Amino acid sequence: MKLIELSGEELLLWRKKLLLKGGSSADLDWLLDIGGGLRWSTLQQIHIDPNRHLRLSKTLDVLESLWCIHLDSKTPLQHLVGRCPWRDFELEISPVALIPRQETEILVDLALQKFDENFSGLWADLGTGSGALAVALARDLPRAVGHAVDCSKDALSLAQSNLQRLAPKSRVSFYLGSWWEPLRPWWGSISLVLANPPYIPSSVVDGLDPIIREHEPLIALCGGVDGLNACREIIFGAFNAMSNEGWLFLEHHHDQSDAVLDLMIKSGLKDVDFETDLEGIRRFALGRHP
Ligand code: GLN
Repeated sequence: MKLIELSGEELLLWRKKLLLKGGSSADLDWLLDIGGGLRWSTLQQIHIDPNRHLRLSKTLDVLESLWCIHLDSKTPLQHLVGRCPWRDFELEISPVALIPRQETEILVDLALQKFDENFSGLWADLGTGSGALAVALARDLPRAVGHAVDCSKDALSLAQSNLQRLAPKSRVSFYLGSWWEPLRPWWGSISLVLANPPYIPSSVVDGLDPIIREHEPLIALCGGVDGLNACREIIFGAFNAMSNEGWLFLEHHHDQSDAVLDLMIKSGLKDVDFETDLEGIRRFALGRHP
């Protein structure tokens, strides 16, 4: 790859000019990092010493045109560069699946508090989207067997390609269908289940920022009138599909904790509890098959 050389001063002037057009400095620095290969730490050093020279993997003109598309059409930068860092890897991203959010990384940490690398049972990722959760489980639980489900054929191909690149030796299979349905042959033997289902109530979806509403798949965001349609299916299906003592971990909306915990208790799960996200909001629910 040909690297573009420039001075720190040149870059800082360009950065100032682009921020005058709009957008946030955090987003522009993300573009410089993921799109241009300029690590955040190098950028900090340039702020202190603008005489430093640096190298970019794309010209400033190319980066500027991406920034303008982002501002004009409210296209997420992750779609423009086609990639998104998540946990300790970088996923290929496209409009067919939700862009993985940073808070969802916690769902994996919660699972890894209960299951370690010696776990050799079955896990499932319901609504895998880009495959973020499945890739993380495949890398961190190398002896386990994984099942990733999605109702979108395009999302499944994206997840499959991410898995092949990021965890090529893993034993993960992909299934097209709705939640538990395609996993029927393994019902009763799944020990670990993770899901970040669509959970935003339909009335809230209409008011989302256009950068989300107009560019990310509605099917991955909208959970029906109260946002809980998918959560209900996953929680009530868990009783038949999971093995005794198996753990279910769910992400939900910022105000759904009580409702989701209640559904888990009603469905017969035990050890039901919540966990908070990076902002201290109750964002995750967990429960165990009796
Ligand atoms: N957390 C996402 C958002 O706020 C929604 C993800 C989801 O519905 N699963 O945009």
